[in-house]
Amino acid sequence: MGGEVRNVIIIGSGPAGYTAGLYAARALLEPLMFAGYMSGGQLMLTTDVENFPGYPMGVGGPEMMVHMREQAEHFGLEVHDKNVERVDFSERPFRVWVEGEEFRAEAVIICTGAEAIWLGVEGEEEHRGRGISSCATCDGAFFRDEEVIVVGGGDSAMEEATFLTRFASKVTIIHRREGFRASKIMYERAAIHPKIDIKTHRRVKSWLSDDNGLTGAVLEDPRDGSEEEISCTGAFVAIGHKPMTGFLEGEVEMDGSGYVLHTEHTMTSVPGVFAAGDVVDKRYRQAVTAAGMGCRAAMDAEKWLEGQH
Ligand code: NAP
Repeated sequence: MGGEVRNVIIIGSGPAGYTAGLYAARALLEPLMFAGYMSGGQLMLTTDVENFPGYPMGVGGPEMMVHMREQAEHFGLEVHDKNVERVDFSERPFRVWVEGEEFRAEAVIICTGAEAIWLGVEGEEEHRGRGISSCATCDGAFFRDEEVIVVGGGDSAMEEATFLTRFASKVTIIHRREGFRASKIMYERAAIHPKIDIKTHRRVKSWLSDDNGLTGAVLEDPRDGSEEEISCTGAFVAIGHKPMTGFLEGEVEMDGSGYVLHTEHTMTSVPGVFAAGDVVDKRYRQAVTAAGMGCRAAMDAEKWLEGQH
């Protein structure tokens, strides 16, 4: 494999990656994708997706990713369920290492996405996607007339809490200290909302559940260790996301939080290396926006490759 130089290697397999794969395959670029050991990205952790156009009754997140993969493979995308460990973008062809094996390509599209940061407390793992979510836009509508909590004190937490008031009967924001990192306007929008209650100096110590699902959380006051319980059937953890860019350190320019920066269109600081989806986007983070950007990256890569001949 080491001697062959591919047109395009796509790293990552969420909606951005599969859409880039579909477009690159249909452009006859014979793309190769490294999908990761857990292919499909964050949508594999969600239940129903109701905001991706074309599914009138919604669709399961994992099911949608299977469909996206099948469609891209049908048109010729070659997919390997393996992680990329290291890259070298210092010269072309670019080099990518997977399980110690070297692969080379004229262009690379990075679609490794981002992952929500979780609290990591007792009971969280088993309720992720079943009561505990990191995306109100995705899962808020499942908690109509129910009581939910939002954990965090940044803009994401304020935005999630405000959005959830459309559905939930009550939203309680749980924040670990007095001061809020959120912008004043977003904090105030949440603070004055009649459905939103804010509890500061509280940390979620563990999640509570019964046979029907999540029932609440044990909260701890970090100042004196005192504990109380809060009831809720839904919980949204909004303590930040981290882009999956560790393996790109020193290879492409990133912002202070590790998100890949675009220069022109979807091109990164390295001509011939493109990026799409949540790995560059901390604002929208939607399947449909990631898919759109994946399409753009494949078209940009195709145009760029054409110009190299
Ligand atoms: P963030 O600004 O980093 O805030 C994370 C919040 O979670 C902080 O309040 C932090 O508390 C808390 N936190 C972190 N780890 C925690 C833990 N283990 N337990 C409990 N709480 C924890 O993240 P973000 O809110 O996702 O925002 C990220 C960026 O996106 C920001 O630049 C934000 O402005 C932007 N954003 C903008 C919009 C918008 O403009 N519409 C919407 C969303 C996000 P401490 O403060 O105590 O550290």
